Amino acid sequence: MKIGCPTEVKPQEHRVGLTPNAAREAVAHGHDVLVQSGAGLGAGFDDAAYLTAGARLAPGAAEVFAESDMIVKVKEPQPAERAMLRADQLLFTYLHLAPDPEQTDDLLASGATCIAYETVTDAHGGLPLLAPMSEVAGRLAPQMGAWALQKPNGGRGVLMGGVPGVGPANVLVIGGGNVGTHAARIAAGMGADVTVLDRALPRLRYLDDVFGGVFRNRYSTEGALSELLAQADMVIGAVLIPGAAAPKLVSRAMLADMKPGAVLVDVAIDQGGCFETSRATTHGDPVYEVDGIQHYCVANMPGAVPRSSTIALGNATLPFVLALADKGWRTACAEDPHLLAGLNVHAGRLTNAAVGAALSREA
Ligand code: NAD
Repeated sequence: MKIGCPTEVKPQEHRVGLTPNAAREAVAHGHDVLVQSGAGLGAGFDDAAYLTAGARLAPGAAEVFAESDMIVKVKEPQPAERAMLRADQLLFTYLHLAPDPEQTDDLLASGATCIAYETVTDAHGGLPLLAPMSEVAGRLAPQMGAWALQKPNGGRGVLMGGVPGVGPANVLVIGGGNVGTHAARIAAGMGADVTVLDRALPRLRYLDDVFGGVFRNRYSTEGALSELLAQADMVIGAVLIPGAAAPKLVSRAMLADMKPGAVLVDVAIDQGGCFETSRATTHGDPVYEVDGIQHYCVANMPGAVPRSSTIALGNATLPFVLALADKGWRTACAEDPHLLAGLNVHAGRLTNAAVGAALSREA
């Protein structure tokens, strides 16, 4: 199969759909891999690395789209990319169609077959192609929060690990799922005193079994939250209620009980945020202050570390890329119901019930 990988064109996007190692595997499986020249540069992969892997280079996106049977990307196709899609083509990328009727119309009109990373499932009820980005955002959260805690950056001037004779920062993580667990591990690794709040007892048992002694956990109630908020130098918001906006767990009034210069890192901002005072920020201007409390609310945190994010995403997508290329999408999806769950669009029809319901369209 001819597999194409164009340069991402969405603003601020530096990831790439195929790493040189992924290209090498696809070539070893007998496929012809065509990468747009410069596609990997933002993630630190130069053209030479793709050539060494056995891929071919194309001067522009037009050649990649014209020649490829399958396009592998990161972000949803932008209008100019959608215009190049063909009915006999397979697109494998993040789509996030539910809030995007314009993109949906273009993909339906193209006739292409589109498999969305975010709706591929696994045997445990998880979303394996979203998980790596939660891992990245979780591990990044204490790092960004530690920066914001520094005095020149508006914070209260507390060092995460303290020093001998001086206590460490106090970190509260709200939500002990994928993001929260990774955030707590890194914050504890930096030497902070960490507590995780969650409402799911099985999750708290898991955290206790695996991380007892590394960080504490508490059952999430309003009482526990207000007690822990008052002690915190940094609060990381990592809650998720599947399919719903994030609950506003910390109101503006509650900020008055916090230490001046404390930092809120709202990772759940992509679902609306779990602090009342959160509004989405960008990597260019990530932090703002409300009532003396610093807020970091970047909606695409993995974009700050495109090299790590590209490799993490590539590790998760590669088995599916190879299955699709080796078997063709019909057989690959027929053999794997989890990959089939990723099929969002085919031959001018929506094929995912949840996406159809969100768009009030037939699927
Ligand atoms: P997850 O489902 O693995 O974990 C969410 C956890 O929140 C669950 O354990 C759940 O029990 C807990 N929870 C729900 N309500 C709670 C409450 N009231 N109090 C305490 N805990 C509560 O989800 P995840 O993968 O960890 O994602 C968390 C959030 O991070 C999501 O909104 C996700 O979209 C977001 N996210 C953001 C970025 C970014 O760049 N900003 C990147 C990745 C993920």
